[in-house]
Parts: sequence; C-alpha cells; structure tokens
Amino acid sequence: MAERLVVFDTTLRDGEQAPGFSMTIEEKLRLARAIEALGADVVEAGFPIASDDDAEAVHRIALTLERPVVAALSRCAPGDIDRAAWGVEPARRGRIHTFIATSDLHLSRKLHMTREACLEAAVAAVQRARGYTDDVEFSAEDATRSDMDFLCRVIEAVIAAGAGTVNLPDTVGYCTPDEIAEFFRTILSRVPNADQATFSAHCHDDLGLAVANTLAAIGAGVRQVECTVNGIGERAGNASLEEIIMATRVRSDRLPVETGIDTRQLYPVSQLLTELTGERVQSNKAIVGRNAFAHEAGIHQDGMLKDRRTYEIMRPEDVGVPQTTLVLGKHSGRHAVQKRCEMFGLTLSRRDLDLVYRRIVAIADRRKHVSDEDLLEIVTSVRGVARRAAADHSLHEAGYGFGV
Ligand code: MN
Repeated sequence: MAERLVVFDTTLRDGEQAPGFSMTIEEKLRLARAIEALGADVVEAGFPIASDDDAEAVHRIALTLERPVVAALSRCAPGDIDRAAWGVEPARRGRIHTFIATSDLHLSRKLHMTREACLEAAVAAVQRARGYTDDVEFSAEDATRSDMDFLCRVIEAVIAAGAGTVNLPDTVGYCTPDEIAEFFRTILSRVPNADQATFSAHCHDDLGLAVANTLAAIGAGVRQVECTVNGIGERAGNASLEEIIMATRVRSDRLPVETGIDTRQLYPVSQLLTELTGERVQSNKAIVGRNAFAHEAGIHQDGMLKDRRTYEIMRPEDVGVPQTTLVLGKHSGRHAVQKRCEMFGLTLSRRDLDLVYRRIVAIADRRKHVSDEDLLEIVTSVRGVARRAAADHSLHEAGYGFGV
C-alpha cells in the first residue's frame, strides 16, 4: 500500500526569488491557479515580510485558491510571523512556515546568535504561529550542515511546541543522496517525538543532485517534498517538481508513494511559467524540455515507429506534451520520413521516398532541422519531377521522341 507524499510547491516563493523570475501579483495569481489545478497539496505563495507586494500577493492567493493549503514564509521573529499570518488569514487552510538557521556557520557568521538563543527563538516562533493557525511548519535552514545533536534538540522542541511539519533543507545543495538518506534516518530514529510530525525535504541543485537527494530522502521516510515547476529557485534552483513526480510514477516499484498530482498538467504549467517569466527551460530538460520526447536518430525513430516502448519510458500525453516529435534531421531514416509524410496524407512510392529522403539528408547536412514546410516543398518538387518524367516516358512510348 503506497503512502501519501505531500507535494509542497514553492515556485512562487523560492522560485520567484531567483534572478529573472519575478512576477507581478496578477501573474502570480495565474500561476497559483495552475499549480492548484496541477494538484499540489501546499502552495507556498511568498514571504510577506519581504515586501508589500509579496504580502499582497500571498493575501490574494489565499483568497483565491480553494483546495490547497496556502503557506507563507517567515523568519522566527514576531513581526514576520504576524505579517505571514495576515497573508494567509483568508485561506481556507493557511500555513505559517517559519524558519531559522541551525548550522554553526550561519549562527555565528550571519545571525550572530548562540545555539541556545536559536533554540529559544525557534520555539517562540512556533508557539506564536500556532496562535494563528493549527498548521505550522518549521524549517531548520542549512540543516544538513548543522550539528546533529543540536539539530535533534531543536526538532524535538519545535514538535513539542506544535510544529506539524519539520522541513530540513539542504540549503546550499551540498549533500549526496546516500548522505541525506542517512541524515533523515538518523533524525527519525533519534528524535523521540518524530512520529508526531511530517518530515520534509527541500533540496537545492548546486551539484545537480536536488532531485536525487529528494528521492533518497523519500526512501528514508520523508513524506513532504518541497519543489518547483521547471526546478527554478535560488542559484541553480530547487528540486524539479515534474522530475520528482514522474520518477515516483514511472518507478513506483522503487518509490512506493502516491501524490495528488495530475501529471497531464505538468507540461502546461511548465509552459505557463515560461510564458510569464520569459525564461525558457533547457531543451534537454527532463519531462518538460523541448527535446524530452523528441527522437532524431534513425535507429531510434525506426524503433519508436515499431513500438514506442523501445525508446520511451513514459508517454508524452501522460505529462501533457501534445505528441512525440520525430525530428527530421541528418540522423533520420526513411521510415521516419515516410511516417511524417503519412501525417500529411501523402503516400510516396518507394522511388519518391528515396528521392525525398536524399534531399532531406542533403539539407540536414547544412541545417540543424528540416521543417515540415521543407518536407512538403521537397515532396512537391520530387513529385513534379516524377510527373514530368512519367509524361516524358509516355510521350516516348507514344513515339514522340524529343531528341537531344
Ligand atoms: Mn531554498
């Protein structure tokens, strides 16, 4: 029996914080509605103390969304918590997400705070947040570089103070998958009241390991994942929502968890984010990149046309991608050219197919792609030549030689 995995989307908070991804309040509302339709359980709408616009956006999103929990971020400071509480106040289900760094590096160099003061601030913040809502999440920033004994003390104290979710971010994307799995297993076995909270992973992609680390954390017992559409977020970004979701779908044999995500919305939401921010995803990005379901090599195209499972582990329509693209290029084979022609209702003789194929290869040697327009032009011209040749032939047959 698969356990439920809570999908916490932070595209509008961590994602929006990244350079190039700022959105207006109206744009955030559009994206928030799309993330609701996608089926995220929690939508982190912003960091209200950061700016009036952020606070307003959180408030409007809280007013608009009907199904998901709407979360607002706050530091462990009374003013922050009060502002976050104002933001999520209209939500049917509002969450205050309060955080403080627990690593000695952050405490001494950034916050100029002792461990004891950090522990007190964390507990006080959770208690204050609980005064506003029953749904409080606590995050230990830079958790994966924190002293394990101290971190366990903080976690035990915030759970006792009423935090229902404990998020342990790999804030700087430093962990390896085996390490983060051991990290969560240690905490889950050492914190005495760990069974009273949902543990959460929040991984960054500085070493390209955010999704791998998130999946390893799930394997270790984490039941909430924090992620973003297209993997956007601070620096190299957060764990990509679409990659986590499809990994759990395609490999449910290794990752037996269920989510409420409608995978057919993955591509449309990705496209909407691109449209709103003008920032495209890399073409080879898993799941949502332009080439994620494209096949150009002749051997691959031939295999695909015979049985898609030869080169596809998931169907494009399952993630909302309109169709598999058999890209015509210099690596394509005759079979793909024929299929593409059939898409346009064109049936080619073997001889015409051969001519069309050679012309395509010749063009593709000079250009990256052969467009459908190119293809149709080639077919028309080849057929024109063929018709004239046939006409010439029949004239010859009829005895009207043209001479030389
Ligand atoms: Mn983050």
